[in-house]
Amino acid sequence: MNKIRFDDQVVVITGAGSGIGRAYAHAFASRGARVVVNDLGGNRDGTGKAHEAADKVVAELAQYGGKAVANYDSVASLRGGERIIATAEDAFGRVDVLVNNAGVLRDKSLLKMTEEDWELVVDVHLKGAFCVTRPAFALMKKNGYGRIINTTSGSGLYGNFGQSAYMAAKMGVVGLMHSVVAEGSKHNILCNAISPVAASRMTDDVMPPEILAKLKPEFIAPLVLYLASQENRETGMIFNCAAGWFSRTAICCAPGLCLGDAERPITPEEIHANWEGITSLDNAAPLGSVVDSFRFMASLF
Ligand code: NAD
Repeated sequence: MNKIRFDDQVVVITGAGSGIGRAYAHAFASRGARVVVNDLGGNRDGTGKAHEAADKVVAELAQYGGKAVANYDSVASLRGGERIIATAEDAFGRVDVLVNNAGVLRDKSLLKMTEEDWELVVDVHLKGAFCVTRPAFALMKKNGYGRIINTTSGSGLYGNFGQSAYMAAKMGVVGLMHSVVAEGSKHNILCNAISPVAASRMTDDVMPPEILAKLKPEFIAPLVLYLASQENRETGMIFNCAAGWFSRTAICCAPGLCLGDAERPITPEEIHANWEGITSLDNAAPLGSVVDSFRFMASLF
């Protein structure tokens, strides 16, 4: 098997100044990529900004002999996203890979979550992914090639306490992935999402040290590198990864029951009586698009 490499490829990683993004930057650079290290350099809760985080990682990447540049813009505006992609274009002339990784945390229960908290978290994770993807997609479309990886989370996919904005945003990036899949496939632009678990400043107070020691950010990078490579042909998939564990997760649709005849409304009592069949996940499967779900209603038309 040929070694997966990124020679002459340009990789943009948002939030690459620390944690998992920094591990990606090292892994891509060690395999020949030219890397744009974007990081606002703020605190975990999204306050503050500084150039040191991105600059430090760029300096670290010199050991691989490749080229890397820093960008300090926030992903949370389209202007910022355009500047991040312009940094790649100005330095290296193209963008082959985008890893939407930047993130902040403001964990609060629903009634304590302020509008400001909500907006900041959603702006970085969800709007931020859109704001960088849009200009990257335009370049990738022109080049007929692109790989985009969005970062979702088990909290958003499966649920957690006290993370309403984060969870909503992390499900949102799955929706954004579907959009890139639908519009990018014909241009050889593939998009997948990963749900990592790793030790970083985001998790250092939620798990015990002996567990965190096993959750190295470097253990997430191999999956992202594979998804970002020319070897990858998958698009529209969601993966869990942590400590050497990799698995696919999916939003599935079950066939359910066609109770009506598309002529009369079904009553709540009929819903009650058929609850088991409606909620059954027997024969559930992921769908290629919303259109695929229409076949389950076929008998009604
Ligand atoms: P981290 O805090 O170490 O890294 C996030 C980086 O994003 C920071 O360097 C930060 O400065 C940067 N950033 C924040 N706001 C930004 C903005 N507006 N523009 C540009 N950069 C910005 O945390 P991490 O654990 O490495 O998280 C990386 C990603 O993985 C995040 O999207 C996070 O939600 C996701 N994630 C992490 C875990 C985990 O277990 N660590 C679990 C699920 C999802």
